[in-house]
Amino acid sequence: MSGMPDKSGHLKAVLAIDGPVGAGKSSVAKRTADALGFFHLDTGAMYRCVALRAMDLPEEKRADPAALQRIAGRARIELPEPGVVLLDGEDVSGAIRSEAVSAEVAIVADDPGVRELLVHRQREIGMLRPTVLEGRDIGTVVFPDAALKIYLDASPASRARRRTDQLRAAGRTADYAAVLAGLLERDRRDRARLQGALRIAPGARIMDTTNLDEDTVVALLAAMVRDHPVFAAACQTAI
Ligand code: C5P
Repeated sequence: MSGMPDKSGHLKAVLAIDGPVGAGKSSVAKRTADALGFFHLDTGAMYRCVALRAMDLPEEKRADPAALQRIAGRARIELPEPGVVLLDGEDVSGAIRSEAVSAEVAIVADDPGVRELLVHRQREIGMLRPTVLEGRDIGTVVFPDAALKIYLDASPASRARRRTDQLRAAGRTADYAAVLAGLLERDRRDRARLQGALRIAPGARIMDTTNLDEDTVVALLAAMVRDHPVFAAACQTAI
């Protein structure tokens, strides 16, 4: 259940949540952070910000590592409140979720130089206060010394069903078979990445949410954090 201590033997007051697309990480991470009074960092939003800027590049430059790393190094990404993402002062919360960005972001996330820059910033942010971080490599790369690591999973069918329902609820047309195929392809790419690949971190607790509703998952996670000695002081001041 617990992470690996750093060289000084300390675990960080970090709840690390990793897992495949559609397992419910974003919503669960946000709600758990709210319940605990912790900061919430959606690391996928950071890769999406870099992808959004990369789309301003001429087509032939969009896969150029030097250009992508320049963007990642310069981008001023801020998360002033839950669900709000500012890129160089501009609210891009909606823009980074577009289909076009979703298609572009894999190239950005595959680049080791971009990852190094963003991982460095994620560590800086996570060290400031008790934080819930969600992504693909939080427990393996960003905070291997997180006090609590969770691998949130669910069957591909239920992940595709949830994603289809979300898209339809947002007024978009969504075909279940196409959503499932897209999700399996993103899983393949997330697991094949040379650096920061999606995998179960050593010491992570696996939570399969196929048959669990979101309220239950949030309550379980909040209870695990409150029961953990590393978070005890933070929870007393936050709750
Ligand atoms: O989670 P989300 O779908 O918003 O992530 C956007 C992209 O960033 C995905 O391609 C995902 O694989 C990648 N990502 C990553 N490492 C993270 C978080 C997201 O490679 N820690």
